[in-house]
Amino acid sequence: MNGNDPVIIVGAGLSGLRAASLLNEQGVKCIILEARDRIGGRVLSNEVADRPDLGRFDLGPTWFWPRYERTITKLVEELDLKTFEQYSAGRMLSERSPNEPAQQHILPEGAMERSLRFVGGVQSLIDRIAATLPPETIRLHTRVTAILQEENGMFSLEANGERIRASAIIITLPPRIVAQNVTFRPELPPALRANLINKPTWMAGQAKAVAIYDRPFWREQGLSGFVSSWAGPLQEIHDASPDTGAGALFGFFGIPAKTRQDLGEEKILELVVEQLTRLFGPSAENVRALLYKDWSSDAATAVEEDAEPLRDYPSYGPITANSWGEKIYFAGTETAYEQGGHLEGALRSAERAVAELMKHYSR
Ligand SMILES: Cc1cc2nc3c(=O)[nH]c(=O)nc-3n(C[C@H](O)[C@H](O)[C@H](O)COP(=O)(O)OP(=O)(O)OC[C@H]3O[C@@H](n4cnc5c(N)ncnc54)[C@H](O)[C@@H]3O)c2cc1C
Repeated sequence: MNGNDPVIIVGAGLSGLRAASLLNEQGVKCIILEARDRIGGRVLSNEVADRPDLGRFDLGPTWFWPRYERTITKLVEELDLKTFEQYSAGRMLSERSPNEPAQQHILPEGAMERSLRFVGGVQSLIDRIAATLPPETIRLHTRVTAILQEENGMFSLEANGERIRASAIIITLPPRIVAQNVTFRPELPPALRANLINKPTWMAGQAKAVAIYDRPFWREQGLSGFVSSWAGPLQEIHDASPDTGAGALFGFFGIPAKTRQDLGEEKILELVVEQLTRLFGPSAENVRALLYKDWSSDAATAVEEDAEPLRDYPSYGPITANSWGEKIYFAGTETAYEQGGHLEGALRSAERAVAELMKHYSR
């Protein structure tokens, strides 16, 4: 390692924060450089501006699946975070066309894999990990634009016009964001660059809308809140009610990013309320608040190509930088061996990157 220079972690999403906490546990000094004005990356749990009492609502990830996601399950236990089961009691709705009434179905027991949600949203996980880090570990508003390898083998980064020396670097950005926004000097070998571009960012082309109500009134009608729709604009809807007693429904969109951008947020939310009213009756018109986040137009997550819907499940897995330089490690959910795309993948990739780094560190 280069003398007293810290390990620099690029990105304060789940992967970057977990990498920092693991290094910190092992007594390795590290700094996280984060472009946004907040931590969490694709994790975003927002309150309604003038109604914090309603709770926090997830506009990024919502669930984890304890049966096969052991890393996040264990971490949640260690951090003593409170979780609750996704509400799924009652009938689901299936909508074929806006002109036909939705069909009601009772799903067989076990048809949905058991998933857990966080009290206070997934942001609770982010905040709890960040709270374990020494003060001043995280620098917000710091967009890394270049990673440089000097002739003597030392590494540095450029961010906000400043040059920052690093003993090692863990890059946790979505690989396509690295390829598009970070300059490497010397240049990356073509195969490594192609590997970055070929790992599309999970959910980067998606958007989420959350409709918030005084109470989850659909439960009183024996409905679970789960909807599968070909009519849209929402394609898949779930009960997103927090533990505060308020009600909420969230949905993923069936319309592509380009169409969403053409329609604009106001029109989209109008169509969302129209659809919810069609499905759940006039009570659905009485929204307390609507939240919306289109990830495809967020430059810290998505590149232009992400607006194209994914045709196949992406092939995720480790990216190694050895052909460019040692002591540069790629983490982030898209680089995970397993559960790539999920929160679980983000955690596992951080564990792997830190384990690889520590092998060098102890030499
Ligand atoms: C709508 C949606 C729903 C999802 N649902 C689920 C779910 O239910 N369950 C689940 O397990 N997963 C879900 N996911 C996926 C989950 O959010 C991700 O797997 C996880 O958050 C990725 O974490 P990460 O740290 O790898 O990447 P990110 O969270 O993307 O972190 C990368 C960080 O790098 C920062 N950054 C970018 N460019 C720069 C730069 N140049 N310099 C410095 N910093 C930079 C970004 O601001 C960001 O903070 C969902 C994602 C979305 C968007």
